[in-house]
Amino acid sequence: MSLPLALDLTDRLVVMVGGGPVTGRRLHAFVAEGARVRVVAPWVCEDVAEVLARDPVLVEWVRRDYTGPDDLDGAWLVHTAAGDGAVDTAVREDSAALRLWCIDATDASATAARVLARTEVETPDGVVTVAVHAGGDPRLAAGVRDGIDLALRSGVIDLRRRRPRTTGWVALVGGGPGSDGLLTTRGHELLASADVVVVDRLAPRGVVSRLPESVRVIDVGKTPHHHPVPQDRINAILVEEAQRGHGVVRLKGGDPYVLGRGGEERLECEAHGIPVEVVPGVTSAVAVPAAAGIPVTHRGVAKSFTMVTGHEQVPSLPTGSDHTLVLLMGVSLLRETALALVSQGRSVDCPVAIIERGFLPDQRVTIGTLEDIADLADSCGVQSPAVIVVGDVVRLAHPV
Ligand code: SAH
Repeated sequence: MSLPLALDLTDRLVVMVGGGPVTGRRLHAFVAEGARVRVVAPWVCEDVAEVLARDPVLVEWVRRDYTGPDDLDGAWLVHTAAGDGAVDTAVREDSAALRLWCIDATDASATAARVLARTEVETPDGVVTVAVHAGGDPRLAAGVRDGIDLALRSGVIDLRRRRPRTTGWVALVGGGPGSDGLLTTRGHELLASADVVVVDRLAPRGVVSRLPESVRVIDVGKTPHHHPVPQDRINAILVEEAQRGHGVVRLKGGDPYVLGRGGEERLECEAHGIPVEVVPGVTSAVAVPAAAGIPVTHRGVAKSFTMVTGHEQVPSLPTGSDHTLVLLMGVSLLRETALALVSQGRSVDCPVAIIERGFLPDQRVTIGTLEDIADLADSCGVQSPAVIVVGDVVRLAHPV
């Protein structure tokens, strides 16, 4: 029989008898919970020594064997892992006499308190902890915990706050280049915590379609030359929704800070005192070339790359074909860009690849040279979104 309870150990004394690795592991956990700890042991392992060195105020070391109930003075909780059955028994009995909860790490069934297998996920509204007790089988408990941990990370467990908040929060989440599998686990956790999701055209749509109906999805997707929701308005939506007490995920394509205006969105939220978390994403600048088999650097072929927007006149760039250029938003000005690169000194033979809709079912790759790529793109009707790669690394592309 046992009733799982949560203990707030902040500033409460825990006495730990023994200085071995089990003490070390639990010591980390107790200190992380804000406890004060007295370690009673003639010697300590490296792990314990490290915590003692780091937290000399919170953690005290009584450097000798356990001598009796006086060592437990002031304790709220006792933990014994002395490596000596007689000592553990004495600690258990002394604790019981003092009506102190005691955990015997070597024999969980010998004491009335035990540590459960647990996992936690940090939502912007606080930490959610799941603890598992499986009778007298700690390994079963750990296995169940691992399964729950996986579910928590994948976002299948709803983490949305049920109690109203005074202020909401915003998370700018990089969704990767559009395929569901390239969203980070942190991104999934935050989507499972959000009430409102503000989504871009190039964000992973499959993930959005699986959100529960209770989540409000605001689509601010832009297409080139057609900006249905201007950036100012997007910023205002994030602020207004958070001010209404909602948890808001701004799900963006690729990485929020790569040509994604994530910096502006963050600053706007911060200017209104709204907490913001920024979660990096897999940027299309590197990932979309990879979808076509093109590494942006490759030993002996290219050791550096530059990413630029192809939306404006290209700046002056290194001209060797061993330096890779990656152009985002470069379809409409492709002809001008190719000419500019040649006039800067790039060879007309320099290989070029255009990868449209990378990682999506209708991905298409077109390969040419600076001389002919614009004509090729015209004849096959290349369209945005596409990443354009210029340089010798294009020769490594998967056969088209
Ligand atoms: N923040 C994003 C980039 C936004 S700019 C990122 O880090 O990836 C938008 C440009 O990204 C598009 O015009 C296109 O050049 C590129 N892009 C994004 N997703 C793409 C995809 N799946 N396939 C091809 N290009 C993509």
